[in-house]
Amino acid sequence: VYMANLKNGGIARTKQLKKYRLMKRQLTMLAMATALCVSCNNGKQAEAEAKFDYTNESFADIQMLRYEVKGFDELTLDQKKLVYYLQEAALQGRDILFDQNGRHNLVIRKMLETVYTDYQGDKTTEDWKNFVTYVKRVWFSNGIHHHYSADKFVPGFSPEFFKQALLAVDAAKLPLAEGQTVEALCDEVFPAIFDPAVMAKRVNQADGEDLVLTSASYYYDGVTQAEAEAFYNNLKDPKDETPVMYGMNSRLVKENGKVVEKVWHTEGLYGEALSKVVYWLEKALTVAENDEQKAVIEKLIKYYRSGSLEDFDDYCIAWVGDLDSRIDFVNGFTESYGDPLGMKASWESIVNFKDLEATKRTETISSNAQWFEDNSPVDSRFKKEKVKGVTAKVITAAILAGDLYPSTAIGINLPNSNWIRSAHGSKSVTIGNLTEAYNMAALGNGFNEEFVYSDVERKLLEEYDALTGDLHTDLHECLGHGSGKLLPGVDPDALKAHGSTIEETRADLFGLYYLGDPKMVELGLLPNAEAYKAEYYGQMMNGLMTQLVRIEPGATVEEAHMRNRQLIARWAYEHGKADNVIELVKRDGKTFVKINDYEKLRGLFGELLAEIQRIKSEGDYEAGRQLVEQYAVQVDQELHKEILARYEALNLAPYKGFINPVYTAVTDAEGNITDVTISYDESYDDQMLRYSRDYATLPYRN
Ligand code: ZN
Repeated sequence: VYMANLKNGGIARTKQLKKYRLMKRQLTMLAMATALCVSCNNGKQAEAEAKFDYTNESFADIQMLRYEVKGFDELTLDQKKLVYYLQEAALQGRDILFDQNGRHNLVIRKMLETVYTDYQGDKTTEDWKNFVTYVKRVWFSNGIHHHYSADKFVPGFSPEFFKQALLAVDAAKLPLAEGQTVEALCDEVFPAIFDPAVMAKRVNQADGEDLVLTSASYYYDGVTQAEAEAFYNNLKDPKDETPVMYGMNSRLVKENGKVVEKVWHTEGLYGEALSKVVYWLEKALTVAENDEQKAVIEKLIKYYRSGSLEDFDDYCIAWVGDLDSRIDFVNGFTESYGDPLGMKASWESIVNFKDLEATKRTETISSNAQWFEDNSPVDSRFKKEKVKGVTAKVITAAILAGDLYPSTAIGINLPNSNWIRSAHGSKSVTIGNLTEAYNMAALGNGFNEEFVYSDVERKLLEEYDALTGDLHTDLHECLGHGSGKLLPGVDPDALKAHGSTIEETRADLFGLYYLGDPKMVELGLLPNAEAYKAEYYGQMMNGLMTQLVRIEPGATVEEAHMRNRQLIARWAYEHGKADNVIELVKRDGKTFVKINDYEKLRGLFGELLAEIQRIKSEGDYEAGRQLVEQYAVQVDQELHKEILARYEALNLAPYKGFINPVYTAVTDAEGNITDVTISYDESYDDQMLRYSRDYATLPYRN
């Protein structure tokens, strides 16, 4: 599970000078905010940040950013080598995600890239410009569907244009099947690109439809939802207290009328890519920091070779236990948001190292984990008597890959297995340098001026938003996901398609509830009893209004984190009406969120948390479904129109993603690595083309 950055749009075309002035002001604020819990060197930090160029190109609804890998140069040579090998292992998996996201994606990517680099025709036409945008969007979403809404892109160029461009380039560079002509290639994939009815959604969540057949993600082939559910229900043993994550690492297909799993491992499906991942993991083994970390890497290799989910659990347990290493990583089949049934996991990787100073903040939280569990507003039957091994740290991301690239999370909490989490704990991270990049890029973009009710709230946000945002992420990840327990015998998948939304709601509410607790000030995590209001205001404004900028007019809310935020905000708004806790105020035709009673709002968060925890603990599917359907999905069309118009006038991109830094191994005459250097000057398209060239690990058709 992960936490995404869903707040205040980003920076688009702010004038350089204005940006710099605002940045200086905000830097002071940031430094003040962080100094409360992290004793950082303000002066030096401010200087370095002012120099780093966080923002990069924009296209469609995307703003590209860069992140700085602070502290990399201070790592030892062996640690640098470890990062280097692990980031190679990370990049080798890129093709897997493209394939998981849709069966034609690798073929389409190659066609697009060949035309992008080799086409010699007229590049002043609208067709060409729209083609370039389309290529960049496909790179960004690792496929032909929007990374967030999961809707298929509508190409702004014609099939005729693309066909003539394909016929004009060297056919040997195109992903032709054996004996296939370029025309036949077009016939094979043009419906996927151009026909709105074909593969319309990557993940379909619409209640009542066959979610498997109507989703374009390539986790199932030729099986219905009923067949898939029957297949996995058959495998599950309700008495098994340590169940593996069934279905997590395979495609479910029908062969000769029989439903079977094609498992992803070095000798199976995606074997070509996973073998390369393993090759680099073996290099990493040679420079592991300690025996625990060595065991983690060995177990991961073993699992990639066997495809056995018991081996995967072994690896997860070792990974949770590896706490002392400075460098850490996720590499594998991890997030299940792309599967309409929430079982199959997309491939992703992040390599990172601990931010020693900032980690003190999360250590304060996790060392008080039991207090938070004991004092939460949920029924004691659903509480953990003993919270085990909640570890949390702030990390510096060194590379992002797979489902974490270019769009990424700002916090991660793993492993996903429920029984491992309760028996062995989980590791929770906040990715400090990414949050910082978002904050820096959002400086002075006009967003708060447009949407925030008054100067009082704006001042609150200015002063505390960066800090409370980080804290909310910490609480969400360190405590929220790890809190509570299922009643004995409750199926962890009982909430089915609504499981992700309910789980994210639970974690978010846990964080929101405690942000307003006096304990925060007592622990020195917040400077005063006012600060939490910044996050409350941001949450309500985002959930009731501004997150709607991320969806198309007429659409409903689909993504789990967005649903969770709307659920919380709508529910609190409706249930606070009698006491006038939250108002939607109209001023000059514009709607604003006004919070009249923060304390009561906190009470409402606590109430909803108790109910959400009950639903989760009892596996009450019907109650969960009703909450989601009633509060999380539908959009007020009038309000949506208004928000979109106001947002458009600001000229901001609603989604952000990151260009990775480039690592270069410096070698001596014998080929030994003597240093690893890092650079930040690669452009977005150069990076994507390089990855497609150097990390093309899979056949075009899998
Ligand atoms: Zn989460």
